[in-house]
Amino acid sequence: MSKTPGIDSSIGRLAILPGTFDPITNGHVDILERSRLLFERVIVAVATNLKKTPLFSLDERLRLVRESVAHLEGVSIQSFDGLLVDYARHVGGVAIVRGLRAISDFEYELQMALMNRRMTEQVETVFMMPSEEYSFLTSTIIKEIAALGGPLTGLVPMPVEQALRKRFRNRMGP
Ligand code: ADP
Repeated sequence: MSKTPGIDSSIGRLAILPGTFDPITNGHVDILERSRLLFERVIVAVATNLKKTPLFSLDERLRLVRESVAHLEGVSIQSFDGLLVDYARHVGGVAIVRGLRAISDFEYELQMALMNRRMTEQVETVFMMPSEEYSFLTSTIIKEIAALGGPLTGLVPMPVEQALRKRFRNRMGP
């Protein structure tokens, strides 16, 4: 098991919460908090190799995650590329946590989970449902609302709201 900065790698079981986090929303934070009830340690793993060009650079996405989860113990943040199962094994993770918002998420998530299991039996996929108030929330919708100057309060952590406001300065308030 390799050492992970910020958390004691000798304590308890480790889960990985992978994603694009472009940007992190309160839905992600909700899943992360729930993950911590099951796992002593969680790494938020921010994907670097993306099919789509993200709004925020990798460094910005990492910073926004770091600032948004600073209140949580046992959580660290890393970037990763390549196969998720390879990364999970490399850091000693026993589980990949994914959030399920609706049935529409399920088909793709099931495919990924079964494909990952085919590649390794050492890492289990765990699905978690967010609080109802976040079950409609996606990073894509957040970016659309932000671009159109709509309200983001209660949907994203404050650092994300500020970053979006700055990015779409012309259309949102001061
Ligand atoms: P990806 O590109 O891998 O889907 P995301 O950053 O969009 O990355 O999502 C990462 C994880 O967080 C996924 O498991 C996704 O289903 C979950 N997630 C995203 N938004 C929410 C939400 N509002 N509620 C619960 N889970 C969510």
